[in-house]
Amino acid sequence: MTTPPPPGSTSPPAGGSGRLLALDRAHVWHPYGPMPGRSEPYLVESASGVRLKLADGRELVDGMSSWWAAIHGYRHPVLDEALIEQSRRMSHVMFGGLTHEPAIELAAELVELAPRAGGSASSGSASSGAPGLEHVFLCDSGSVSVEVAFKMALQAQRALGHPGRRRLATWRGGYHGDTFHPMSVCDPDGGMHSLWSGVLPAQVFVDAPPVEFDEAYAEKLVEMIARHSGEIAAVVVEPVVQGAGGMRFHDPRYLRVLREATEAYGILLIFDEIATGFGRTGKLFAAEHAGVVPDIMCVGKALTGGYLTLAAALCTTAVAEAISGGAGGGLMHGPTFMGNPLACAVARASLRLLRDGAWVDQVRLIGNGLRDGLEPLRGRPGVADVRVLGAMGVVQLDHDVDMHAATAAAVAEGVWLRPFRDLVYTMPPYVTGAEDVARIVAGVAAAATVG
Ligand SMILES: *Cc1c(COP(=O)(O)O)cnc(C)c1O
Repeated sequence: MTTPPPPGSTSPPAGGSGRLLALDRAHVWHPYGPMPGRSEPYLVESASGVRLKLADGRELVDGMSSWWAAIHGYRHPVLDEALIEQSRRMSHVMFGGLTHEPAIELAAELVELAPRAGGSASSGSASSGAPGLEHVFLCDSGSVSVEVAFKMALQAQRALGHPGRRRLATWRGGYHGDTFHPMSVCDPDGGMHSLWSGVLPAQVFVDAPPVEFDEAYAEKLVEMIARHSGEIAAVVVEPVVQGAGGMRFHDPRYLRVLREATEAYGILLIFDEIATGFGRTGKLFAAEHAGVVPDIMCVGKALTGGYLTLAAALCTTAVAEAISGGAGGGLMHGPTFMGNPLACAVARASLRLLRDGAWVDQVRLIGNGLRDGLEPLRGRPGVADVRVLGAMGVVQLDHDVDMHAATAAAVAEGVWLRPFRDLVYTMPPYVTGAEDVARIVAGVAAAATVG
């Protein structure tokens, strides 16, 4: 910790925020940024409830849930206690050849909560897939769970005698993570494809789903699956909400169309519920809006209530049996920190809070507050669209936002937001009260109308 500040910077006072920020600038990468960063990050000292406390004493209401994760807010006593309690037993042991209660119980609870056939909304169709998602692969992060889901799909197809089915199909506008295979199914225009053309595997894309149900588009989905059924292992989509790819919502009936067509052709259906899972859209899982059960489902982000990195890929017994009977005799994946007991223990505590059911009303009230507060922005100069679903509010602009200025405008209102591209959006912790929702609305309005 004796590194001098970078040349040209003014020397900061030793030991204070200035020193930390100088070291940050000298050594620390931040997401999607150059080195050093374009603008100075805000230094957070602590967080509690729905508030982030900055080192300079300011307090910000969190409108981001730390990227969809902190659904119960910060320093929640139940989550804190689960973590402390588990740390007194063991923080980690390897998962090869060993097992433990936190992982076992978490897996069983996830299976119980996951969508299952005939479980919720009426599917109205015989082709609703296997009864449920019975098997759980625990892994480190959302992107890794997507990698595992793809590996499951490719291994299963191979084992079932379809080695030619090696590609993936999806719709445009999606986001599935930053590692290479997930990047290959991110939106080819808004994603990082242009940066990686020739490196990323070429996948099959269809247009982004329209907001409303459109019969012609539904036919397009079926046609894509039919045309490529010899070469695609799976269709992968974010159900109902496309998150980081553009915060777009679509009619859940498209998911039924995908379910029926994939089943008809023996193609697997993967739902990436990493952003939508655990109540954000108003249902515990977005798949429930359509009454559809995928063959494989990824969860992450809010799984631990935002405490630790943990994700999972769940699959049906049919997929697990295919993989396990094929060459290799198993799923060829095994991260070092698989099933980390600390992460599993805090995830169990988060699921316990969700099972209390308070989130249902909380999400609805946040949605109402966002709708009432943001709808008046429609028609303002520069505003292209306003949309709200579950506990998510989006103001889409007709131009790219000046991220630095828009963030600063929200901070001036006492709100933490992270606008990107042409989007100023919020997904607050479920425990956000009406007054703080109103403050977030003011922050979104300030960020959306800056400049
Ligand atoms: C965030 C996200 C991922 C990637 O998760 P990481 O934990 O950041 O690797 C994948 N899919 C969706 C839908 C996401 O929102």
